[in-house]
Order: sequence, then C-alpha cells, then structure tokens
Amino acid sequence: MIPLTDSKPDLALMGRRSFLRAAALAAAVPIVTEATLAQAKLASQSLGVLPPDAVIINANENPLGPCKAACEAIIRILPLGGRYDRMGELDALTNEYAALHGLKPETLAFYAGSSEPLHYATLAFTSPTRSLVMADPSYESAAAAAMISRAAVHKAPLTATYAHDVRAMVAADPNAGLIYIVNPNNPTGTITSREDILWALENKPKGSILLVDEAYIHLSDEHDVLDQVVAGKDIIVLRTFSKIYGMAGIRCGVAIARPDLLAKLTPYYQNAMPVTALVAARASLADKVLIPARKKWIADSRIETLAFLKANGFKPIGASQSNCFMIDTGRPARGVIAGMQREKVYIGRIWPVWPNAVRISVGSPDDMAKFRVAFKSVMDAPALAATTPLRTAARGPVGMRGDKFLS
Ligand code: PLP
Repeated sequence: MIPLTDSKPDLALMGRRSFLRAAALAAAVPIVTEATLAQAKLASQSLGVLPPDAVIINANENPLGPCKAACEAIIRILPLGGRYDRMGELDALTNEYAALHGLKPETLAFYAGSSEPLHYATLAFTSPTRSLVMADPSYESAAAAAMISRAAVHKAPLTATYAHDVRAMVAADPNAGLIYIVNPNNPTGTITSREDILWALENKPKGSILLVDEAYIHLSDEHDVLDQVVAGKDIIVLRTFSKIYGMAGIRCGVAIARPDLLAKLTPYYQNAMPVTALVAARASLADKVLIPARKKWIADSRIETLAFLKANGFKPIGASQSNCFMIDTGRPARGVIAGMQREKVYIGRIWPVWPNAVRISVGSPDDMAKFRVAFKSVMDAPALAATTPLRTAARGPVGMRGDKFLS
C-alpha cells in the first residue's frame, strides 16, 4: 500500500504512465455506492431530508449501528483525531483481521468502505478490450465504473433459483477482464454456491480475475471463499463493515487478494483511512457475539416479513439469506415505490431487468411492522399505471457498452 497522505507515491515503482492514467481516471469518476444510488432516487424526486418518523429501508443499512465496543473505541480515539494514523491502528487492524481469518497481512488492503476497491478493481482489470461480466440483477457499482474504463459489460440473468449463472458468465466473453459475483447477491439476497464459485474460478477465461463480493456473507449460512486467496488463485474477495457490523456511515472495507493483485489497485488508492473507522472495525472484530446475534436478529425480521407477504398472496423473489429481498409486485414498481413514500416508508430502487420488482432492505422489527401495513395498503389500492410482466431467468448474457446503471 502506498501511503498518499503525507508522502508522495513511488512513481518509479508503479510506472509514471500507469500512475498518471490511473490518477486521471480516478479523479474523473465518482464512486457509486448504495448511498449514492438511494440518495439519487430520493433527490430526483426532490425529497430532501426525510421526515423523522420515516421508515428507511432503501439502502441495505443496519439499523443497529456500530456495536457498543466500536462506539467506545471511536470516543477514545477522538482526541487524537487531529493527527493521521500515528498509533499504528491500520497495522493493528490488518494483523487482527488476518489472524482471525487465517490470512497473511500482506493479502489485506483496507479502504473507507468496499465501494472503493470494487471501483478500483473494475478500473484496473477492465478496459475497452477486457470486459466486465456480472449477473442481472446485481449490484450496479462495478458497471458504473466500467463506463469509465470503457469496457463492455456482459450481464447474465440469474438462474431459476436466482443464483449467479456461472456457466453463462464464464462463457460470456473469452476476453473478460473481471467476473463479478456478489454472494449473497444484492438485490435478491440469494446465494450462489461455493461449488459454483470455485467452478467459475477454475474455468474462467485466461487472464481474467474473479471478484467475489462478500459484503453480506455474514448474514448467510454460506461458506466464504477466503481459502482461495490463501491458495494463491486469481481472485479478489471484498468485505465491508457496512452491513452486519453496522458501520456504513463510519466507512471501512477490505480487499483480500494476492499482493500482486492488490498492487494493481494501488495507483487508484488516494486516501488515508479515518482513525475512527480503524478502531471501530477492530473493536467490532473483538465482539464475539456480534455476528451470530445480529444474523439472527435480521433473519427473524426477514422471515417474519416474508411469511406475512406469502400469507397475503404477495410474491417475494427467491430465498434471501441477507438483509434485503425483492418482491414481484405484478405492476410497475415505480407506482409502488411512490405509494410507499406517501406512507413515509422508503423502499429500494428498481433494477431495469425487473421493472415490476422492488427491493426491500430488512429493518428493525418496528420498521418491518410499519412496512407490512403500508405495503398491504398500497397493494390493495389500484395500480397507478398499467402492468408489465416481470422478466426472470431469461437465458443468455446480454452484452452492452456504456451501461445505464440507475433506472
Ligand atoms: N458491495 C455490495 C454488494 C454492496 O451492496 C455494497 C453496499 O451496499 C458495497 C459493496 C459497498 O459497501 P460500502 O462501500 O459501504 O462498504
């Protein structure tokens, strides 16, 4: 990692030309995050600041926030906030995260959220001649970055069980640069089996990199693929503290990969880590009940809501193991979202491939109780516009350039 805050990057090491190219790309490009996507939706409707009694379930946030130990760690470090990381907090977090996960510290690179390495990996491994391959629907951020690298984006529909169709993805382009798998997927919360991910890793086009985004892995029963990093494979795994750890606003994420792959992201890495994020992340790791307790809390809320939806004849899509799920509303989803907003319940955006589906983030039990009442009332009212059928699991990847990522 090249510290850019109070020393200059080693241009000789990374190559002046590649540094300048990377810097120009990085400077020109906003990083697309859940926050940007959710806010863009609200801003486009001039909603401004949401009312204090709003139910906000539109950005896959965790209403529990940081754990107690993380809050206390932030308070302790605040008086030292006038300085950069002079206390070795980045090294301490790196070493503890590595030890906890059986990794070597040099295979970790921390960022202010995993949106950064997702963006940089796309810039580093895609180009006009090396495409991005992803699922549809899936998290839009990489496709947004591919607009900057001017890479083609091949989107493979999810399978009938809403897993990534790894065979279609691997077959999508022999010149793929990056194959992006989100597990569990955002927006569906559905699982792609470890077996399928390993198949993709073994069979992907020569020279391509597999990017496995495990932002939501702790919420699922699925095994991670960190052992593939240990085995030295062409894989980058992304993790974030924004989801189960409840630190979306504090900003901490990590890219896990062979050092030579992490080095490709280095020219794009521009900022120092906030010390608040470093100490909060380390304190969260030390809380041994956090993951099982929060996983159960979120799962209980999700299961109760899904049972309600099914009992009332609504159609949740697939078997989510995450803090989000989709519902096929059977009518244009824009009208449903607008109706929910009138009830002060702010739900997620639309993915163009499924114009009738909405994404719901799992909030607190109280949030979900309000959601259930509002959703039933909106759906019991006549649709605001004519219905169009939801398209699911159509076969074959669709190639596109300059992909439109925000519906
Ligand atoms: N990856 C996926 C699949 C996500 O859904 C998100 C956020 O919602 C991120 C990455 C990035 O999260 P953050 O930048 O907050 O770490």
